[in-house]
Amino acid sequence: MSARHAGLAPLALALLLAPPAAAQPAAPGFAESAPLVVALDDDDDDEDGTPDREADAPPAFDFGTLQLTGTGWATLATPPGLRVFRGRTALGPDARIALPVELKVQGRALGEHTLHLRGHGADAQRTVRVVGLHFESGEGRIDARTGALRPSLQIPNDATLPRDPLAERSGDPAAFRVVVADPELEGDEARALLRAIDANGRHARLPLRMHARGDGTHVSPWLRLVTDALDATAPGVEGRLLHVSLRDVVELDYHGATQSLRVGRPGDEDGALAARRVSVDVHVLREGGRPVVGRDPAQARAWAREQLVIASEVWAQCLVDFEARAITVHDPAPPAVLSFGEPEGFIAAGGSVRFVAGETTIGPVAIAAGAEPLDAALVVARALREADFDATVTLNPRASYAARPTADVLVRRDGRPVALRAVEGQPLTDDRRLRVRIPEVDLVGGLEEFDNRNAAGGSLEERALVLPTRDGDPATIDLYVVNRFEGRTRQGEAFIEADHGALVNTVILDRRGLEQQRTAFTQAHEIGHVLLDQPFHPDDVGDPVPWRLMSAGAADPTLRGPRRLTAEECARARDRSGVNARPTLLQRHPGRGR
Ligand SMILES: [Zn+2]
Repeated sequence: MSARHAGLAPLALALLLAPPAAAQPAAPGFAESAPLVVALDDDDDDEDGTPDREADAPPAFDFGTLQLTGTGWATLATPPGLRVFRGRTALGPDARIALPVELKVQGRALGEHTLHLRGHGADAQRTVRVVGLHFESGEGRIDARTGALRPSLQIPNDATLPRDPLAERSGDPAAFRVVVADPELEGDEARALLRAIDANGRHARLPLRMHARGDGTHVSPWLRLVTDALDATAPGVEGRLLHVSLRDVVELDYHGATQSLRVGRPGDEDGALAARRVSVDVHVLREGGRPVVGRDPAQARAWAREQLVIASEVWAQCLVDFEARAITVHDPAPPAVLSFGEPEGFIAAGGSVRFVAGETTIGPVAIAAGAEPLDAALVVARALREADFDATVTLNPRASYAARPTADVLVRRDGRPVALRAVEGQPLTDDRRLRVRIPEVDLVGGLEEFDNRNAAGGSLEERALVLPTRDGDPATIDLYVVNRFEGRTRQGEAFIEADHGALVNTVILDRRGLEQQRTAFTQAHEIGHVLLDQPFHPDDVGDPVPWRLMSAGAADPTLRGPRRLTAEECARARDRSGVNARPTLLQRHPGRGR
């Protein structure tokens, strides 16, 4: 190193160490001086059963924000009615903090509280006003640890929603109101905002006008949750309806202070308000190489998905929604079912059965005289298994005109249906009485529907459609979309457990059922038969109730259309298909906490 450089070094060091004038510690303070309004954090955003104000690490949704200015170190004194956080860390009552910093504050006791920020001889103050915000049902305050909101079962503008904003009671047990307790609030009116926040963070908003109730609080009119767009625009009840989905967060916002409840309780709970979810396997059939709905498979899938969206909107009334486990667009399976005794259920006179499975000739298999259709099916299934096929025998409920129940054998290999056919030029059986058939699904003329006599078991063509293609998991619903039913008298069918048929928890919809999706609600209605495990309609015996989902054949695109479930139906679905039923169709809705 040269002498000249060594001589410069001390000067450079001195320049680096000299503090610039601006680095004098700036006095500590709060960026804003107006009182900060936060809510008493009495809700349970993480749904852990503890009010957030008592939790060790509460979620921050309802915290207020404090901007602290200045530089260097200061002491923040926090009174007991508040808790201050830096990030996720709660500060002590007298915390040393480096400025500037953004902190969060939680309200833990109602009233006004003052924060003191001291340092460099200064004492800055900020008032935090903790207000009470809560939700009320007809039974009083809803406890966020155990309660929830639920969608209304009523026609949204019917008389059970009181129009008087200060009405004490509502005739709708699902109606609710929100309450603000803010001692500083003067005058008869106040404004607040209700938000519905879904899993993707999307919001529906309902501005609220609150009125003084005479007990020091301000209260909203009675409100309802609705679950579809038509209900949300019901005339005469503007400002009273909030459009939600199952498990949305409903958040009350008063001057930035927030508290919330959920639509339905977490699915891992067992109560009547716990959310449930149904898995559906959707099959959109192809006819002539094209899906029966939509121009192409992508559009067909979109149609199918829309059916489950609609069903979810309707069934959210019972705190149930639907998810597609799979949506497949496929041709009818090859003829893989061998049917015995269809349709009359006659017993065998004695003979043999012979046919081809794939490339393998099966038989002749001897059928003894007097064998019932089920006996014959079991004997043939054994022969199939000896030839290395999987053979599944199902018994159909006896049709009203039939001597005995009929039986089917489904033939598969490696999980796939195997095409069956007669041996060239020969009948399937030489038995004079026992009928043996290989049904084919031919959708060109429409699907052969069940009639009053074989409703429980389904038609032969329906069994040929469903048996080879269903997923075999009884805890999911299989939903088939076909072009039409042969007789054109119906748009949907349901096969329910109570009928003890081979087809259970299965729904078939035709294209018209889809096209009338929000008029007849065929998808939600037929799924309703499955969930309720109930083939009947409320108006089969009583007066017409065209506004009820389970009404027979109602179609109406208005608010009075067949869209409403009843509390009894919600309870029955939980009983027949809930978590204590086998199979469980109403599974536990996933997720807990925001
Ligand atoms: Zn029906």
